[in-house]
Amino acid sequence: MVWVDRILGELQERFAMQIGNGEPLILRDEKTLSGRVHVGSLRGIVIHGLIGQALSEEGIPNRFLFELNDFDPMDELPANLPNRDSFQKYMGQPLFTVPSSEASAKNYPMVFGEELERVVASLGFSIQFYPLEPLYRAGKFNGVIREALDHAAEIRAIYREVSGSEKPDDWYPLQVICEQCGKVGTTQVTGWDGTQVKYSCKKNLVKWAEGCGHEGTISPFDGRAKLPWKVEWPAKWKVMGVHIEGAGKDHSAAGGSREIGKRICEEIFHYPNPFDIPYEFFNIGGKKMSASKGLGASAKEVSDLLPPKLLKLLMIRKLPNQPIDFDPEGTTPRFLRSADAPSASRRRSSETQRFPSHGSGEEGTRRAHVLRQAMDQFICAVIVSFPHPEGPNGFFLLASSRAETDRSSQRFSKEARECRVGRTGNPCLAA
Ligand SMILES: [Zn+2]
Repeated sequence: MVWVDRILGELQERFAMQIGNGEPLILRDEKTLSGRVHVGSLRGIVIHGLIGQALSEEGIPNRFLFELNDFDPMDELPANLPNRDSFQKYMGQPLFTVPSSEASAKNYPMVFGEELERVVASLGFSIQFYPLEPLYRAGKFNGVIREALDHAAEIRAIYREVSGSEKPDDWYPLQVICEQCGKVGTTQVTGWDGTQVKYSCKKNLVKWAEGCGHEGTISPFDGRAKLPWKVEWPAKWKVMGVHIEGAGKDHSAAGGSREIGKRICEEIFHYPNPFDIPYEFFNIGGKKMSASKGLGASAKEVSDLLPPKLLKLLMIRKLPNQPIDFDPEGTTPRFLRSADAPSASRRRSSETQRFPSHGSGEEGTRRAHVLRQAMDQFICAVIVSFPHPEGPNGFFLLASSRAETDRSSQRFSKEARECRVGRTGNPCLAA
């Protein structure tokens, strides 16, 4: 039995009533579009996508909603953003108000959102992408904003009890878009009279942006304000009617956003905490990838190099609670390493532990080469690491859909052969 079957069984038990009523189960995941989406973010997409696929195969209607978060403040600039300095002035603004760095996209976040949609399309899941900001603007969050403001004292108590974080009595869980400077990351709501909120735009609220000092009173509804992450997350579960949503381990730690979110969800929004699938990071050389530090490879770079089924396999071959450590030096078994490229190029490939996301000219070509080399080694490793201990054989996992199981073995061999043809110069693949 593979892990997805175990989860399927638990879902059938927990949602027996909804399934009996023919109510579709809602799966949700999201990504804040503050930079290029790195390959590690695909882990959540593949985990949720696979569960959706398994539900469908059991005849259980479901929808996988993926939020393109375009409303968070711009709080970091990717290390390799072209004309990076020219974006400094937008720090603190909601992402959707930042102009596009590429002519083809509507705004800054959608440069990355559209790229992600294209990459994910190749994985063959049925995913409904949606941007966040239009939902706020359409008033879909008005109800939860009111509940959060009315129960600010209880929310402050939950923060204190779960994470030890002390908020002053005039702290309200909401951030207004400043009417004067347009920033959302710098504002703090300090009063609520049931109709309007009082807020100030603070110079030193955060390190990454400076507020203008404006103070105002405004209606918090219809897209003028947003909830902070730990309150917004459970609010999204209620607004979108979510049944199933896993998250990376950074959110799942004790006292973390998932624990706070669960309490706010149940106690403030009176909505059941969704079925959780905590999953581990996708690391490179033992380090979590970070777009702002230029550490790691983008989802697109990796999908350009790996056939979709291998990319899926890379994400699911380990249990969700085990980290995937993609270490170009360490992934390949020792006996293959000795048969691999000469030692000089092996030393050069240690740079793959830090392949930056962008590059042009000679530098870009070199990086692409280094990345390709790393992928060769990874493909090598997957081929020899079959069978997977979790399944009857690795092909079962690779197929990702049990309906495909019978054909998967043949298909995998074909893809593996294609990889070999395309990757000369790597002895373990040339066999
Ligand atoms: Zn301001």
